[in-house]
Amino acid sequence: MDSPDVIVIGGGTGGYSTALRAAALGLEVVLVERDKVGGTCLHRGCIPSKAMLHAAELVDGIAEARERWGVKATLDAVDWPALVATRDDIVARNHRGVQAHLAHAGVRVIAGSARLTGPRSVRVEGVRGEPGVHDIPRGHGEPGAHDNPRGHGEPGVHDNPRGHGESGAQDLSARRGLVLATGSRPRTLPGLEPDGRRVVTSDDALFAPGLPASVLVLGGGAIGVEYASFHRSLGAEVTLVEAADRIVPLEDAEVSRHLTRGLKKRGIDVRAGARLLDAEVLDDGVRARVRTARGETLTIAAERLLVAVGRTPVTDGLDVTAAGLATDERGFVVPADWDRLETAVPGVHVVGDLLPPPSLGLAHASFAEGLLVAETLAGVPSAPVDYAAVPRVTYSSPQTAAVGLSEAEARARGHEVVTNSMPLTAVAKGMVHGQGGMVKVVAEAGGGRVLGVHLVGPHVSEMIAESQLVVGWDAEPSDVARHVHPHPTLSEAVGEAFLTLAGRGLHQQ
Ligand SMILES: Cc1cc2nc3c(=O)[nH]c(=O)nc-3n(C[C@H](O)[C@H](O)[C@H](O)COP(=O)(O)OP(=O)(O)OC[C@H]3O[C@@H](n4cnc5c(N)ncnc54)[C@H](O)[C@@H]3O)c2cc1C
Repeated sequence: MDSPDVIVIGGGTGGYSTALRAAALGLEVVLVERDKVGGTCLHRGCIPSKAMLHAAELVDGIAEARERWGVKATLDAVDWPALVATRDDIVARNHRGVQAHLAHAGVRVIAGSARLTGPRSVRVEGVRGEPGVHDIPRGHGEPGAHDNPRGHGEPGVHDNPRGHGESGAQDLSARRGLVLATGSRPRTLPGLEPDGRRVVTSDDALFAPGLPASVLVLGGGAIGVEYASFHRSLGAEVTLVEAADRIVPLEDAEVSRHLTRGLKKRGIDVRAGARLLDAEVLDDGVRARVRTARGETLTIAAERLLVAVGRTPVTDGLDVTAAGLATDERGFVVPADWDRLETAVPGVHVVGDLLPPPSLGLAHASFAEGLLVAETLAGVPSAPVDYAAVPRVTYSSPQTAAVGLSEAEARARGHEVVTNSMPLTAVAKGMVHGQGGMVKVVAEAGGGRVLGVHLVGPHVSEMIAESQLVVGWDAEPSDVARHVHPHPTLSEAVGEAFLTLAGRGLHQQ
């Protein structure tokens, strides 16, 4: 029996970050992955979607150049296969980078499907060489590839005792800890089974052969909004249907209002408080009936119906009961100790999308969880993840970015709060961008702690980092107001919002 210190099941952001940190701390680590290391984020989530949204931004820029700046530019066409090729190249290079990092750290990657056989024991079935792993070029600037201490440029595969391409089973037992990091997959609705062609998930939308002329997006969370935004930029007629009374319903109400306004301005038909009644799949598309917020029945015809109603945890084939564990009614594995992300079975930990809220179903939250679990297993002191201080971003146009509590949450928790909202166009750079947007700060009354910061507008995904330190470090508006922001930038608006709350408003009186 192979007995490393740590076995990690699942090589997504949660699993591979756990493995990298544990190996860096001197532990012997085996990572089991049945598909590709990098997981959802790298292959079907964050990275391909943001690559496509970057292309969408360029398309939008052509319209802006023509309409606002007198640049006589026109858009000939979007070459979808070329766009996909660039996106896939970015994904492939990142994939090779993750493989190389793992190899460099000395993590043994076993490509196969893991099933629990006891509290810390695992059987890996269908063991094989990880697809594509032997394609890693050596010395091409991929992190660690050229200085792979094992020298083969084929991370992990040569460690596979069954050899490359072979299939079989392997039994493992963890001396210190077992980490479950099997992630999530798109959730679907009963009676609305994706067929990959007309009714699609976010996974299918990536691999579609072309762009639809019209799309009905079901679900106004981050993924639904991003796909709605992307398709609109590339010329599709887009309807966005959300059952809650506002899109991005977990964010501050003012964020939802500004985002709705921004998306509508771009021609997206945003329907919040609306429910899908039924959908009929036709040869050339889908005809859906939707009950609107006003109680009317609306028939929407679209080439594609994209179901983005959330994600569901993956435990199929894992047999968590063999380790003495159970999933909750939604399929999550719930830690008994959130400070260590340890289950009721000692030494068995959980990271990533397999965790229920307050974990966030976000890649960067899973990185933090991976660090915490690895350090815990290595006996190194590690602070629990402060989920309230983890930023949340929607990469649409306009973008949203937030950290901490919304105004309603802060009040519900009994805080006496003050808020300050200001439009991004209150600063010169906001006018240059001309896309509206806003900054909202929620703070304790009487000059107390900043509880939440909420941004909407261009580039706010890059602007939230400052506010995450403000919230994470329990700073007060006067602490921030001491620090000068560069002029002219969009970040000045954030600085101004704090200056005003500190009683030192300059452009916002
Ligand atoms: C369209 C989209 C866009 C997104 N955009 C963002 C974003 O911009 N920013 C952000 O922070 N997050 C984003 N996310 C969320 C992010 O992708 C997830 O939070 C993250 O991937 C979760 O990582 P994980 O390691 O928990 O799980 P996963 O990445 O799902 O990895 C789990 C891995 O476990 C493997 N596995 C499962 N069962 C077994 C088994 N029995 N044996 C062996 N291997 C197994 C799977 O093959 C998989 O590779 C996005 C998601 C989607 C779908």
